[in-house]
Amino acid sequence: MTGEFTLSAPAVVLATGGIGANHEMVRRYWPERMGTPPSSMITGVPAYVDGRMLDIAAAAGVRLVNRDRMWHYTEGVVNWDPVWPRHAIRILPGPSSMWFDALGRRLPAPYLPGYDTLGTLRHLRTTPDIAGYDHSWFVLTQKIVEKEFALSGSEQNPDITSGRRSAFLRERLLSRGAPGPVEAFTTHGEDFVVADTLDELVARMNALTDAPPLDPALLRGQIEARDRQLAHPYSKDAQVQGIHNARRSLGDRIGRVATPHRILDPAAGPLIGVKLHVLTRKTLGGIQTDLGSRALDTHGEPIPGLYAVGEAAGFGGGGVHGYNVLEGTFLGGCIFSGRAAGRSLAGSL
Ligand SMILES: Cc1cc2nc3c(=O)[nH]c(=O)nc-3n(C[C@H](O)[C@H](O)[C@H](O)COP(=O)(O)OP(=O)(O)OC[C@H]3O[C@@H](n4cnc5c(N)ncnc54)[C@H](O)[C@@H]3O)c2cc1C
Repeated sequence: MTGEFTLSAPAVVLATGGIGANHEMVRRYWPERMGTPPSSMITGVPAYVDGRMLDIAAAAGVRLVNRDRMWHYTEGVVNWDPVWPRHAIRILPGPSSMWFDALGRRLPAPYLPGYDTLGTLRHLRTTPDIAGYDHSWFVLTQKIVEKEFALSGSEQNPDITSGRRSAFLRERLLSRGAPGPVEAFTTHGEDFVVADTLDELVARMNALTDAPPLDPALLRGQIEARDRQLAHPYSKDAQVQGIHNARRSLGDRIGRVATPHRILDPAAGPLIGVKLHVLTRKTLGGIQTDLGSRALDTHGEPIPGLYAVGEAAGFGGGGVHGYNVLEGTFLGGCIFSGRAAGRSLAGSL
């Protein structure tokens, strides 16, 4: 298409999504409570999620609110097989991987895999001696990756998106080894290293970063301390307690949480190290609307004929979830605000 054109309509609904693919914009509105923004991030949303329409709407008189509310993951990996430009993937981890900061110190509870996403992000970005680094590390075993690693994104879960229960059962429960897409990442992913011994693994992890080098003795001491806790019936290790808790649920025991084992048990190996990046995802603020999804102007008055829904409207209202949100409930706000807009339109046209 060349040139400009004008299109008139009795009503316009803005449904253009968030800002995650625009790292400059993410950094500009980065919340103070989350410390310093990473200088390098990876992108967990399609390239079109660039926030452009938010600025266009603001220039047309819309009020944008709560722009510092956002949700990014700390378990991002570079995608070896991207679907869109700069496409990266989030690992949905089970509870057993050990998580280390850039200096090789184990993250404190409750910042354990799969626990508190924004809390972990805050810890990594506000702890003074690590805030300057943009990565952290998982150390795990082959046995853990097989049962506990899931990857976010429809193309990473063909057994689920196929809608065939048999494919799901075959891939997740009956087959040996990790699901195909996870296995492909351990083989091809630039953030994954595999080794038979810890010293070898740490050397390979260090080859993935310019600085700071990890000290194998520091990692070994922490891993052995965690491994010793496995033998204790009343373990004081919060992560080991969490593993046992998770396995009290039959579904998790069968399909999601590896049988507890020592990380340094050669029978559970080889060892795997994963370099984790901050991965941009959800925009919790945006165009302010009323309960009928009508976009409001800077005086708080509805702009005739203009509506905003979904992530562009902070999932409805300009930030309906507040500063935090229950994982996985974002789509609800998209559907709810779309329905409200539809109802308003049906009444107004
Ligand atoms: C990998 C992944 C996994 C997710 N998992 C979950 C989950 O488990 N649970 C959950 O609740 N949420 C999840 N989310 C978040 C959820 O998918 C999004 O918040 C939701 O899709 C946003 O919907 P939307 O319609 O507001 O925007 P989008 O789905 O982003 O759609 C925006 C549309 O606007 C178009 N557009 C953008 N800019 C312009 C422009 N300037 N002009 C014209 N058109 C434009 C785009 O092409 C696109 O079609 C996930 C997101 C991703 C990426």
